[in-house]
Amino acid sequence: MKPIYSILVPAYNEQEVLDIFYETMKKHMDPLKEPYEIIFVNDGSKDNTALILANIAKRDKNVKVINFSRNFGQQAAELAALTYAKGDACIIMDCDLQDPPEVAVQMIGKWKEGYEIVHGKRKKRKGETFFKKATAHMYYRFLRKITNMDIPTDTGEFKLYDRKAVNAILSLPEHNRYLRGLATWVGFKQTSISFDRPERRAGVTKWTLKKMIKLAEDGILANSSYPLFLSIKAGIAFGIMSLIAFITFIVLVCCGINLPLAAWLFPTVVLLAGFTLVMNGFSNVYIGRIYDEVKGRPNFIVGDTINIE
Ligand code: UDP
Ligand code: MG
Repeated sequence: MKPIYSILVPAYNEQEVLDIFYETMKKHMDPLKEPYEIIFVNDGSKDNTALILANIAKRDKNVKVINFSRNFGQQAAELAALTYAKGDACIIMDCDLQDPPEVAVQMIGKWKEGYEIVHGKRKKRKGETFFKKATAHMYYRFLRKITNMDIPTDTGEFKLYDRKAVNAILSLPEHNRYLRGLATWVGFKQTSISFDRPERRAGVTKWTLKKMIKLAEDGILANSSYPLFLSIKAGIAFGIMSLIAFITFIVLVCCGINLPLAAWLFPTVVLLAGFTLVMNGFSNVYIGRIYDEVKGRPNFIVGDTINIE
């Protein structure tokens, strides 16, 4: 039977939590009495993840497993799961039970009300370091500011996507897909559900600092040309600085204070640097446009039509 719901789960070295995740998920999904599938993507695990998943899949035909040839990262695993998913609604969630199954069921409720993307919004985050919480807090707000997109703050990968949104995301030709940004970019009727994020059920976080920095970078670069424009801003600041210096020097000269010739070098060099930065910024503007073209995103995505086949 074609599943209505696809539960999509990336897993990297998660041998401690897979069985408990599967049992808990089943306990919450079965009472809905609607067909669903669970797709696990084993992201190149080096522990017993593959074996455990194969065992679960042997017992339950609604459990599907994709084994990556190596570790490609959570984003890639989620994209793979979205590609294989058959459901009308797809829910991406972690397998460590930090994304609570009862919230997934609430997301389904929102979907039945007509929402097409439901974000899981973290109210409290237990068991995470102060550093991670603080940087995440600042990052989400910064990203919103520079992308001019209404990316909901404090949301992660835990989301429900309607089939239409899944198809829209998969149809994008760009290679570097940052799902959290695209979930907002594709539009559709969106809402969020707030929840307290519990601690990981077992095992340790698979997100090293290096991986987090790379994700943060992807988020900014995939969705914003802001860094390219910094050059123009810096150039203008330099220009203003040199102007102030020139005016000050001229006033000093008018007041009869004699300045050594070398002093004039300062505003001149600053002015030249500003000029170079602005010129460089103009090239960046074009690079930004080329980047947009290369990404090849469509100019619009249609949600619904009336009287159009
Ligand atoms: N994950 C993955 N590949 C990776 C890193 C993580 O598939 O390279 C999975 C991981 O198994 C988990 C989810 O992504 O299901 C989130 O990872 P984790 O719980 O370690 O992140 P945190 O909740 O600490 O941010
Ligand atoms: Mg986790």
